[in-house]
Amino acid sequence: MSALDKILISSIKKGIVTASVDLSKIEALGLELKEMANKHFGRSFNIREMDTGSCGACEAEIIAANNPIYDVSRFGVNFVASPRHADALLVTGPVSKNMALALKKTYAAMPGPKLVITLGNCALDGGIFKGSYYTEGGVSSILPVTTHIPGCPPTPTEILRALVGLLKCFTG
Ligand code: SF4
Repeated sequence: MSALDKILISSIKKGIVTASVDLSKIEALGLELKEMANKHFGRSFNIREMDTGSCGACEAEIIAANNPIYDVSRFGVNFVASPRHADALLVTGPVSKNMALALKKTYAAMPGPKLVITLGNCALDGGIFKGSYYTEGGVSSILPVTTHIPGCPPTPTEILRALVGLLKCFTG
């Protein structure tokens, strides 16, 4: 069965999953995140996002986290264009062979100490693309991964919750 077939079957099984958003939960998580980012970095938490071969749905959830409903930037989470400005590298998708070098170069360009976050099952171990001839597998086969956000794809709320968990590890 091809990866496309797997995606189609998974989508049909899931049905429409558009969730109603609990704004008070988002607010509480966001404020916690902001407080810990300030404590740990003394400023905002800057993330460089990179898609190394995702189906696009993990990207869509990251974009949703930046829409006017979630608006994560108000909690001090910035998505930056340059790896030189990033505290963390957020990677989606399996690592396709033609993106492996770009992934290594992006990581090398980041200032230390640097965090690597994988988002979605494909970034963990290849997910539905596991075993495909055009992937290197999960991100951890190439870079040291700090933490993983599970899901196919994870929702914006789950992304926020995972970022809170990550920063909690550093701020105690
Ligand atoms: S984990 Fe993300 S990239 Fe992989 S199939 Fe699921 S939604 Fe797509």
